[in-house]
Amino acid sequence: MKAVPDLIAGVDRKLDALAGQSLMRRLRVADSPCAPRQVVDGRAMLAFCSNDYLGLAAHPDVIEALREGAGRYGAGSGASHLVSGHSRAHALLEGRLGEWMAPHLEQARALYLCTGYMANLAILTALGADSDAMIFSEALNHASLIDGARLAKAGVTVYPHGDVDALAAQLAASSAGTRIVVTDSVFSMDGNLAPLPALLALCERHGAWLVVDDAHGFGVLGARGRGALEHFDLRSPNLVYMGTLGKAAGVGGAFIAAHASVIELLVQRARPYIYTTAAPPALAHALQASLDIIGGEEGTRRRAHLAALVAHLRDALRLQRWQLLPSHTAIQPVIVGSNDEALRAAAGLHEQGLWVPAIRPPTVAPGTARLRMTLCAAHSHDDVALLARALNELERATA
Ligand SMILES: *Cc1c(COP(=O)(O)O)cnc(C)c1O
Repeated sequence: MKAVPDLIAGVDRKLDALAGQSLMRRLRVADSPCAPRQVVDGRAMLAFCSNDYLGLAAHPDVIEALREGAGRYGAGSGASHLVSGHSRAHALLEGRLGEWMAPHLEQARALYLCTGYMANLAILTALGADSDAMIFSEALNHASLIDGARLAKAGVTVYPHGDVDALAAQLAASSAGTRIVVTDSVFSMDGNLAPLPALLALCERHGAWLVVDDAHGFGVLGARGRGALEHFDLRSPNLVYMGTLGKAAGVGGAFIAAHASVIELLVQRARPYIYTTAAPPALAHALQASLDIIGGEEGTRRRAHLAALVAHLRDALRLQRWQLLPSHTAIQPVIVGSNDEALRAAAGLHEQGLWVPAIRPPTVAPGTARLRMTLCAAHSHDDVALLARALNELERATA
């Protein structure tokens, strides 16, 4: 009888410790679809936090395709892909994504997975399945890549952020049988780009894989929205590409694109693909509508508007103590420093109806707590002007 309260008391002590460091996070309930104007906890807010960069999460064509997909394929897949859950909708989406990525890969094939988190676990555990393999992981990689590397049998070496020379030295010194370099393309908390052309040249020289997590690039980078590989005009059999479909594509899930043999290995061996129920086929069907928009004129227009909003925000911010990071993507972070001040800044914006998240450790390094603003094509220039004015005044008021 007594054991249970003791267990709970231990948990509560951990929670108290988090609260003492201003590290408690809190769930807010959205009462309306993901969009700049959103009702949150019953209150109308102007949101700058989603990764729905093109504003497709609530796009009528995508919603209609989701409805149509549910009518045609039902609500759920009923089983994992290799049992009976692999629907025509999944196969069609994979075929189209494989064609999209074909200019950048040899014998391209794509595989749809339930989430980007699982896709990263799948890639790293399958390619890094041998204990004589080595994963070279960029210091600012997303948590899902860190977890994938931990779960793989391969060893892990972290290389400093953006440091191609340090990575070159590590690769040259390595005698690993299989070498896997893995990086975010757009760093999710900083907004800057990895030096992919230099990384790829290095990987080709050393016969290493280059795994690119393009969660924040697919849909927004490249003239046709095909992501970081299109942006940098890269093509190589050494590339393994991961694009997520819950951010700019506005729906959910992720895909891996690589040489057909790599994809076949994943189908055969990747546990995050094999041992989970296939995503509802209606999602794959809805994603066809997203791809229509991303790849069409509307996508081009939305990307151009987003780029204009980013330039507007950067131009309008006049910060002195807080540091706007040098990012040209839709991710625009302002480093505030302490957890406490970042929280107070986010609260100050919230009071004015502006929703901007305060990002704290362990997501970012201690002492670099920040406001992470994200812009999306559904924002207007007036929205951006409002945000910039509020932030400029808030920094001055808290000096
Ligand atoms: C969001 C994100 C993921 C995970 O993708 P989900 O589909 O949300 O699971 C992976 N990598 C990066 C860099 C991300 O930002």
